[in-house]
Amino acid sequence: MIRVLKEGRSSVQKANDHTSVKTAVESVLTAVEQRGDEAVRHYSETFDKWTPDSFRLSQAEIDECISAVAPRDLEDIRFAQAQIRRFAEIQRDALQDVEVETLPGVVLGHKNIPMNSVGCYVPGGKYPLVASAHMSVVTAKVAGVKRVIAMTPPFHGKPAPAVIAAMALAGADEIYVLGGIQAIAAMAIGTSTIAPVDFLVGPGNAYVAEAKRQLFGRVGIDLLAGPTETLVIADETVDAELCATDLLGQAEHGPDSPAILLTNSERLARDTIIEVERLLEILPTATIARQAWIDYGQVIVCDTDEEMLAEADRIASEHVQVMTRDPDYFLARMTNFGALFLGPRTNVAYGDKVIGTNHTLPTLGNARFTGGLWVGKFMKTCTYQRILTDKASAMIGEYCSRLCVLEGFLGHAEQANIRVRRYGGRNVPY
Ligand code: NAD
Repeated sequence: MIRVLKEGRSSVQKANDHTSVKTAVESVLTAVEQRGDEAVRHYSETFDKWTPDSFRLSQAEIDECISAVAPRDLEDIRFAQAQIRRFAEIQRDALQDVEVETLPGVVLGHKNIPMNSVGCYVPGGKYPLVASAHMSVVTAKVAGVKRVIAMTPPFHGKPAPAVIAAMALAGADEIYVLGGIQAIAAMAIGTSTIAPVDFLVGPGNAYVAEAKRQLFGRVGIDLLAGPTETLVIADETVDAELCATDLLGQAEHGPDSPAILLTNSERLARDTIIEVERLLEILPTATIARQAWIDYGQVIVCDTDEEMLAEADRIASEHVQVMTRDPDYFLARMTNFGALFLGPRTNVAYGDKVIGTNHTLPTLGNARFTGGLWVGKFMKTCTYQRILTDKASAMIGEYCSRLCVLEGFLGHAEQANIRVRRYGGRNVPY
C-alpha cells in the first residue's frame, strides 16, 4: 500500500501550469522572426539588462575569460571534459554503420551522419552552469558536428569566465553571451549577425525548454531538459542524512525543482523529513531549495520493492538515485528514468558535474519516451539501398508493383513495372 507522508505538486501538474510561459515565448519568437537582431537586443535588455556591442565574444575576450579562471579550476574543467569525451567516444564507436545483403542481390544499409550545425544552450541565470558546456559542446564535437555554437546568459551582468572557458576548451566554434528565449530564437531562426543552426541542445529553465518545444520542426531539438527533478529510492540500508542531502542537492537548482523520496521504510521517511528541515537551516542555497521542497517535495512510503518500482516508473523522473539493498533490481526492471545512480557511493552531483555520463536529461515525465543527450542525438541515422542484379530488381519489382496497385498508387506501380519489364520479370497488369 502506498502512503504519502509529504505531498507536493507533480511534474504533470507543473507542465499544465505553463500558460504564461507559453505566451511569453510565443511573443519573443514572433518578434525575433520579424525583427531579427533588433528584437534579440530588445529582449536581452528586457530580461537580462544586457546589451553589449556584440553578443559574440572575440578571441581576445575569450582569452581574457580563460585567464580569469584559477589554474585549479581549469584543471578540474579539463578533467571533467576528459571523462565526458571518453564516454562519448566509446558510445560513438558503438554506433555502427550497417550494410547487409538482406536477399540475394538486395543490399540495405544505414549511415550515422553528424548534423552540420548545432546550437548549445548553456544555462546561467541562477548558477553559471559550467558543466552544461561539457555536456553539449564536447559531445557535439565528438559526434563530428562541424559548426558548434554556444550561448549562455550573462551572470550578474557580465560573461561568466568559467563557463566561457569551458565552452572554449570544449571546442565551441562561436561563443555568445546571450540568454533565455532570445538566445534559443536567435540560434534557431537566425538573424543578420547569427547564422541559424540545424539542431538545438542543452538544458534550461521553463522558458528555454518551452522555446525549444515551440521551435521543434523548424530545427531539431535534443529533448526537453527543463527544471531539474530528482527521485531518491531508499531503504534502511542508508540513513536519513544521505537521503536528505541528495534531495536538497537537486532542489537547490530552482524553486520549481521536484525532489521526491520513495522508500519502503516509514522510519526513514519520517527521519528524512526532519533531516531536510535541519539541513535547510545550514545550506547556503536554502532559500531556493526550501521553496522547491515546500512546493514540489514529496515523501512516499511503499511496502515492497515492486510497489517502489511501479511508482518510480509512473513518476519517470529525470534523475533516479537508488540506495537500496539491491540497486540492480531497479536497473534490471525500471523503464522510465533519465539517468540512474546506483548505490550510495555515487550520486546525482557526480553525474551532473564530472563522472562522464551526460547531465542533459528529460524532465516533465518525458523519460517515458526519451533518454538524455548523448553522442547519438547529434547523428542522423540515414538509410540507403542498392540492387546488385537484374533478377533481384525484377523480383522485388513484381512484389512492389502489386503492393502499389493495392494502394491505388499507379504511378508508383509503373516505377516498379518499368524495371520488372527491363530486368526480365513479368509485367504486373493494372
Ligand atoms: P537559464 O539560462 O535557463 O535561464 C536564464 C534566462 O531566462 C535569462 O537569461 C532570461 O533571459 C530568461 N528569463 C528569466 N526570467 C524570464 C521571464 N520572466 N520571461 C522571459 N525570460 C526570462 O538559467 P536558470 O534560470 O538558472 O535555469 C537553469 C535551469 O536549467 C534550471 O531550472 C535547472 O534545473 C535546469 N537544468 C536542467 C538540466 C536537465 O538536464 N534537465 C540540467 C541542468 C540544469
